[in-house]
Amino acid sequence: MVVRRNSAVGEQDPAGGKKTAKATKKVAVKAVAPAKRAVASASEVKASPVRKSESHTALVRRARRINRELAEVYPYAHPELDFENPFQLVVATVLSAQTTDLRVNQTTPGLFAKYPTPEDLAAANPEEVEEILRPTGFFRAKTKSVIGLSKALVEQFGGEVPGRLEDLVKLPGVGRKTAFVVLGNAFGRPGITVDTHFQRLVRRWQWTDQTEPDKIEAAVGALFPKSEWTMLSHHVIFHGRRICHARKPACGACPIAPLCPAYGEGETDPEKAKKLLKYEKGGFPGQRLKPPQAYLDAGGKPAPPLGAG
Ligand code: SF4
Repeated sequence: MVVRRNSAVGEQDPAGGKKTAKATKKVAVKAVAPAKRAVASASEVKASPVRKSESHTALVRRARRINRELAEVYPYAHPELDFENPFQLVVATVLSAQTTDLRVNQTTPGLFAKYPTPEDLAAANPEEVEEILRPTGFFRAKTKSVIGLSKALVEQFGGEVPGRLEDLVKLPGVGRKTAFVVLGNAFGRPGITVDTHFQRLVRRWQWTDQTEPDKIEAAVGALFPKSEWTMLSHHVIFHGRRICHARKPACGACPIAPLCPAYGEGETDPEKAKKLLKYEKGGFPGQRLKPPQAYLDAGGKPAPPLGAG
C-alpha cells in the first residue's frame, strides 16, 4: 500500500482585449501565454485575452496552466484530513460530509483511540459512536455509515480497505468522491475528487458546463493526463477553500485571475480581497492537526509556515 504525498509545477497568462470584469463572466478564455508569478493587477485582468469561444486545444492549454499555476501557489497541497492508514482515511472522508476537515480532525482522534480497527468499529455500540461523532453533524447517519462500512470491511474484505473503485463504492456511505479520495491518497491511484469546491471552480473556469459529478469528472479528466488527477484535485480544492470562495471569491488577490473567465465575480480590490483569504493564505493555521512529515519543510515546519500570508 502506498500513502500518497505530494508533487508540484507552475505558469500563467498575459493581456489581450478590453473586456470588462462583468463581461468576462459570460465568455471563455482563448489564448494563454507566458507564466508569471505575482498576483495579477486589475488592469492586467481586464485586458486578459477573453474571447467568445475557445477551441478544445486552447481550453486544454489554459486548464493545464491553471493547474501548474496552482501547483506553484500550493506546492504543499494534500488531503486535509488527518489519517494514518486507509481505514482511518475512508472513515474520516465519510465524516467530512457537510462539515470542515478541521472539525473531523478534532473528532477522529477520540474515535480511533476507542475503535482503532474495522473489527472494533463494526462491534461498537452505535449510541456511543453517535456521541463521539455528534460535533461533525448528521451524526446518526454518519454513525450508521462508519459502522456499516466497518462491518462490510470485516465481512467482505478481511478487515482491509479494498484498493479498487468498484469495491469501495459498495461500502455504506462511500460514493465515487470518497472512493477517489481513498484511492488517490492511500493507494496512489489517480482519481478526480468532485466535491463542492471542485464543481464551483471548474464551472467558474469554464472547463465544462456539465453539472453532474460523474460527467464533470469525465470532462475534466479528459483535459489532463491521468497521472495528474489526484494533485489537480488537491490544487483545485485548496484554491476553493483559501481564495475562490463560494460567496466572496477574493479575485483581487487571486494568482490565476488572468486565466479566469469569472474574474470580477468576487472582490477585485486587492486590499479588500486580501482580507477574504483563509487558512495559511490569510495568516491562519491550516486544517490538519497532525500534518505528516512529507508536508513539512526541510526545517520541520509546516509548508508554508503557519502564519504566512
Ligand atoms: S478568485 Fe476570482 S479570479 Fe480567482 S479563480 Fe476565483 S473567480 Fe476566478
